[in-house]
Amino acid sequence: MNDIIGYTCTTCHKVYRELPEGMTCPKCDSGGILDVIFDYTKIKRQFNKKKLKKNTLTSIWRYLPLLPVEQKFTRHTLDVGMTPLYEGNNLASYTKTKKIYIKDDGVNPTGSLKDRASAIAVAKALESGHDTIACASTGNAASSLAGNAAKAGLKTVIFVPKRAPIGKLTQLLAYGATVVRVDGDYKQAFIMSKKAIQTHGWYNRNAAINPYLVEGKKTVALEIAEQLGFRMPDWIVVSVGDGCTLAGVYKALSDLDRLEMIDKVPKLLGVQSEGCQPFVQAFENDRPLKEADENTVADSIAVGIPRNPVKAMDAIKKTNGQFIAVSDQKIMHAMKTLGNKEGIFAEPAASATVAGFFKARNRGIITSEDTVVLINTGNGLKDTPHALEALGEPPLIKPTINALNTYLKEEGAIQ
Ligand SMILES: *Cc1c(COP(=O)(O)O)cnc(C)c1O
Ligand SMILES: [Zn+2]
Repeated sequence: MNDIIGYTCTTCHKVYRELPEGMTCPKCDSGGILDVIFDYTKIKRQFNKKKLKKNTLTSIWRYLPLLPVEQKFTRHTLDVGMTPLYEGNNLASYTKTKKIYIKDDGVNPTGSLKDRASAIAVAKALESGHDTIACASTGNAASSLAGNAAKAGLKTVIFVPKRAPIGKLTQLLAYGATVVRVDGDYKQAFIMSKKAIQTHGWYNRNAAINPYLVEGKKTVALEIAEQLGFRMPDWIVVSVGDGCTLAGVYKALSDLDRLEMIDKVPKLLGVQSEGCQPFVQAFENDRPLKEADENTVADSIAVGIPRNPVKAMDAIKKTNGQFIAVSDQKIMHAMKTLGNKEGIFAEPAASATVAGFFKARNRGIITSEDTVVLINTGNGLKDTPHALEALGEPPLIKPTINALNTYLKEEGAIQ
């Protein structure tokens, strides 16, 4: 952990030796998000493929030399990370693609990739002596924070928008969070949380503002690299809301590239929903991001004002990648296809990744010769009402053999 040289502003590029109060660049009014700079020369001595091979930890803490956390604060979290990387052979033959892998982050302790950032938030809050952590969230940041904080004995105050799905809301209550349900959208919940955090001095887990959290999210791509023996795919596909996950994936790739551990840096495909696509529109029109509506079934990526625009846009541009938008209908169809073909149930925002891949594959952006990693960012059980609506509730049949046979024939289960 002591290998942090400083913090650089992603907007004005000023470097700070210590993290400024408020966590963002004091010189930039808005969007002065900081990026942690590591001392790679030092890290190289304690972090390499040989040492990793001998490391028996099965959580994100196996990458501790590349994380901004001290070891003694890592003991109080859930076992986050080291999720499976499946070969998606059925999906590969269905889409006539050379090789597909699916990184299933839906099996994290609270069911989403957000656990990676929340584990870091909890460790940092313990380090700085806070007893309460707060955040605004469309759902998963909240539930992952509440779960990980409960394990560490910390209190949580969570601001959620009106449309947070019932599964995620229920998780918060199970983990004992104080839930502030804002009668508004995510933008409004975010502003409320910011004010309350300032007033009460709670630890801030708002992912874009807190530069340490992207470092947690990057562990998903550190794992992908290690699981692939450091032979990288042509593409990594991930859905985008605030842009922190995408930024995290890129940070991992740039870390590993600087440490000369990977053969190449994959292109990144960032997927948004057509009902909320500020990144896609900025990318296609080559202009700064504009506030967008939050009109999609994929609640985790319904982010009208993304909080990490510079890092996420950089990730796409520097890898020669692309942003793409998909309709809600295609998202729900992709959910079904992923479940049918690979036995993985993804929530709508995570299914967007798969839908984005299908679209990019159809358009030839991703070719038949490419190797692709799809990241499942969240578990489908988090939002069953929307899933059931899309998948169709099975009819009730009379408890008779006749009714059974009629039904099985209709379904094609028997001749
Ligand atoms: C948060 C989230 C995303 C997007 O991550 P951002 O950092 O907001 O871009 C995608 N999928 C799921 C399931 C999420 O919870
Ligand atoms: Zn700045």
